[in-house]
Amino acid sequence: MQFIDLQAQYQHLKSKIDKRISDVLEHGQYIMGPEVAELERELAAYVGVKHAVTCANGTDALTLALMVLDVQEGDAVFCPTFTFFATAEVIAFAGATPVFVESNESTFNICPLDLEKQIQKVREEGRLTPKAIISVDLFGLPANYPELQKIAKKYDLKLIEDAAQGFGGEIESQRAGSFGDLATTSFFPAKPLGCYGDGGAIFTDNDEYAELLRSYRVHGKGVDKYDNVRIGMNSRLDTIQAAILLEKLAEFPSELQKRNKIADQYETELADRFITPRVPEGYLSSWAQYTLRSENRDEVMAEYKSQGVPTMIYYGTCMHQQTAFSYLGYKEGDFPVAEKLAKTVFSLPMHPYM
Ligand SMILES: *Cc1c(COP(=O)(O)O)cnc(C)c1O
Repeated sequence: MQFIDLQAQYQHLKSKIDKRISDVLEHGQYIMGPEVAELERELAAYVGVKHAVTCANGTDALTLALMVLDVQEGDAVFCPTFTFFATAEVIAFAGATPVFVESNESTFNICPLDLEKQIQKVREEGRLTPKAIISVDLFGLPANYPELQKIAKKYDLKLIEDAAQGFGGEIESQRAGSFGDLATTSFFPAKPLGCYGDGGAIFTDNDEYAELLRSYRVHGKGVDKYDNVRIGMNSRLDTIQAAILLEKLAEFPSELQKRNKIADQYETELADRFITPRVPEGYLSSWAQYTLRSENRDEVMAEYKSQGVPTMIYYGTCMHQQTAFSYLGYKEGDFPVAEKLAKTVFSLPMHPYM
């Protein structure tokens, strides 16, 4: 049994995907070919936003979002400590200071109460300028956007939704990718909507942001690629990956249903043995991971392994415990909930072809 079976998905879609790839090989527009624009229209329609701008990966998507918001040295950007490294990395990469926030124990997502505390602390210290929040839709479940949007508004902060794992999630039928001033996603193969290489996208309703993103991803281009009006980067989605994603996106709604069926089955079978993941009323998860908690995780994982069931730990180290962020001066015990999660979580196989 595989943790995520990408081969099974490819076999299911093989003839359609092969045709799409061969179309690209025939027309030869490998960079920014027609499939890229087609995919951006389809993605924006699915998410329910005005603009989808594709790029090279989910990390670049976050970096591009921070560039649009002009985040720089002296700025504070708030993000959960229990997340994948890229969420926090891009803040430091932009020259700004990551300010970590505690997690909610039952949803794994950023805790709005602690977020407000951390914002007030930075304001009182007066050393950094609070600029933005990056919230994460961890394991596929949208963060608490009703509360996060209120806090962003109250403190005049921009909100970025890191939906790298959250694509397909919903709150009251509103889709992930539409909750922040900007939202980002990743098409890394193992994500809910993955391609066969690296890929990413940024979503926004803001016309000005979209125009900036389209410039930044091609060396800060102006009227054309050899007219450079700002410092940007090279971060485009390959046409072949866009072609693959068009077929995968068409299949995505039915895959999302299957993921939710599997999650329901897991819940029924496992709720009496483990702490199973909680999906709040009105929320839909895209189940990037199905994550359980157990006080004796090592034994449980060994038991699963002996039965041929692979398990993984996402994540065993919080951001404030990472060596790369030791310069920020956090210590053990600063985020007891997130630290407890890091010690007890493990994930079971989850994909639509189980
Ligand atoms: C995967 C991931 C990213 C980065 O995406 P890449 O495409 O791998 O660069 C960012 N944030 C979160 C929460 C992720 O899970």
